[in-house]
Amino acid sequence: MRIDRKRLESTIEELGRIGATERGGLTRLALTDEDRRGRDLLVGWMRQAGLRVTVDQMGNIFGERAGQPGRPPVMMGSHADSVPTGGKYDGQLGVLCALETIRTLNDHRVQTRHPVTVVVFTNEEGARFQPAMIASGVMAGKIPLEDAYNARDKDGLRLVDELERIGYLGPEPCVPRPLRAYLELHIEQGPYLEEEGLAVGVVEGIVAIAWSRLTIHGVQDHAGPTPMRIRHDALVAAAEVISGVRGIARQIGGELVTTVGSVTVSPNIPNAIPGRVTLSIDMRDPRDATLDKARWLLDGVVAEACRREGVTYELDHYWRVPYTPFDREVVSAVERAARATGAGHRRILSGAGHDAQYMAAIGPAGMVFVPSRGGRSHCEEEFTPMDDIEHGANTLLGAALELAGQP
Ligand SMILES: [Zn+2]
Repeated sequence: MRIDRKRLESTIEELGRIGATERGGLTRLALTDEDRRGRDLLVGWMRQAGLRVTVDQMGNIFGERAGQPGRPPVMMGSHADSVPTGGKYDGQLGVLCALETIRTLNDHRVQTRHPVTVVVFTNEEGARFQPAMIASGVMAGKIPLEDAYNARDKDGLRLVDELERIGYLGPEPCVPRPLRAYLELHIEQGPYLEEEGLAVGVVEGIVAIAWSRLTIHGVQDHAGPTPMRIRHDALVAAAEVISGVRGIARQIGGELVTTVGSVTVSPNIPNAIPGRVTLSIDMRDPRDATLDKARWLLDGVVAEACRREGVTYELDHYWRVPYTPFDREVVSAVERAARATGAGHRRILSGAGHDAQYMAAIGPAGMVFVPSRGGRSHCEEEFTPMDDIEHGANTLLGAALELAGQP
């Protein structure tokens, strides 16, 4: 049994037109009018496929294909929101391959023991409402519903009001539900599969992530009359921290990645010595122990940089997610399915967070990766060749069928 490549390709194109940008990308932020149009299209397709469609309190959409009564479903899906000027593969490819899997089961009139369900998660990207993965987080009981409802976008609009406005504030409770398994196909968003000429990644887990926030207090002063010898420049200390953070990854090596992605300078004008700088530090590694070591080195880098410039600081290690291993049975099922498609594949780790991370707290979860051209994502250049998508979708189909079982 194989998925219908032409049909899958046409759904990717059709959904990709909603919120399409001129340069071939996608802007479909969560709970905007574009998101509503995308959701409406998906719900229509689910109904055509004979699925029972329900929407929960967080706007997550479920389309269930019946199995034997009383059995928990094999759930497959991802998200349909994007970042601004993002791509049309991140998220929606997982939803559409799940839909294609169900359409293929329908084509072949396959009965399954467990129901097979497509899920579309709300606001995965965190581009409009923070935090990211908010709706699967609520479902897993990790984020209180009230907190999620009160999340506001940059215009002050509340998530719950926007859910209601686009007609996706559903009645179903957003709580952990019994699961046979959760499967998510997603683009890799890194370069490894493409570099190695492989079509499918069998994802073993999601790396541990540590976020820190550093605020440096220098002395704001005039850029002209203040001699160099009496300056306490918060931005100069920050610059040393930024290269020091890169140095931590160089020193530890392995798979550790470190990033300073956000810097706020005050007063941020040409003729004043910066008095205050706030910056973010993101560190990721598969091993929690490595992150502990990186954090310890970071404390030293910051202390040293600030001492040299004579500035004070606060360093807040405020968010930490441990390594999330996926379920061994699910990972094996994905691997067997990948092998059966004949696609080149290997085991891989995810460096990015996904809804599957929260779903792994509810039940057995796993992921299928397909390559990202040039390793690029969250940009209009995001692209995955159709040959690889076909292998990925067939892997998803095979794994779902094995886990759902046949009577
Ligand atoms: Zn995604």
